[in-house]
Amino acid sequence: MYVKRLKSAGYTPRMLPRRLRLFAVLAAAAVGGLLLLGWVLNPQRKTPLRKVFSPAEWVRHWKGIDRYDPNQALLSEGDPNRREVALTFDDGPDTRYGPQIAAILKDKKAAATFFLVGMRVKEHPEVVRRLAAEGFELANHTYNHQSLPALKPHQIANELRLCDADIFEASGQHTSLMRPPGVQYNDKVLEVARALGYVTVSWTVGARDYEADTSPEFIRQRVLARAAPGSIILLHQDTAATAAALPEIIDSLRSQGYQFVTISQMLEHLHAKRPAAPQIPPQKMHLTKILLDR
Ligand SMILES: [Zn+2]
Repeated sequence: MYVKRLKSAGYTPRMLPRRLRLFAVLAAAAVGGLLLLGWVLNPQRKTPLRKVFSPAEWVRHWKGIDRYDPNQALLSEGDPNRREVALTFDDGPDTRYGPQIAAILKDKKAAATFFLVGMRVKEHPEVVRRLAAEGFELANHTYNHQSLPALKPHQIANELRLCDADIFEASGQHTSLMRPPGVQYNDKVLEVARALGYVTVSWTVGARDYEADTSPEFIRQRVLARAAPGSIILLHQDTAATAAALPEIIDSLRSQGYQFVTISQMLEHLHAKRPAAPQIPPQKMHLTKILLDR
């Protein structure tokens, strides 16, 4: 039908398709070439293709700051030459599944880092005290768990300062690692965090366990399929599915020769230069408004 209509419009059957065919072959070759390049440049086959083809990522790699950028105090990934992963749990303290998760980790002697929300710390200081006593690493996930890029610098500083004050009150420990809510950050967030002595911690393997209907099986499969040397695994401690998936995740990774490290240990293994402790004493932290709010 189509050919007939073309003919009647004065085309011979070959004229139009010829150019189209050439274009299709070139396009297919370009796509195929790019995919092949992505395959070759991505030896562990774990890096998302968007990163493989992002010029910004290549610049970061060329500068040697794709894992830890000392100027921004941003940790994106651990040492890929070490068979280690960092389990990180956001949004605690949680009283329903948090203690269960901590018990599994303790039972299996797996190190982990907990990114805690200040206003929840205030509600359940005993859970935080226990996490600290059991040797887990405590970290800052802001006071209110609101998106930081929209805030003014002194508000970002307050989010970190208030959360740290509550964690200190509960556990006697100050924090020097932070993860922005939703891992949403920009240069302003990184600058404020660094000025307050924080390393900002991103992630490489997300379990999507924050979605209500995620099953333990999905979490387990997703984490195990994506984990690689140097992975930062992002989990949450307020979901039943995560607690149910955790024992098998730990056992399986361990059987593959992985060790579990805290984020601080991961930074040490990268020889990361962490930011200096804040120049502003905590009790004078309201001065951050003047120092940082440009
Ligand atoms: Zn969170």
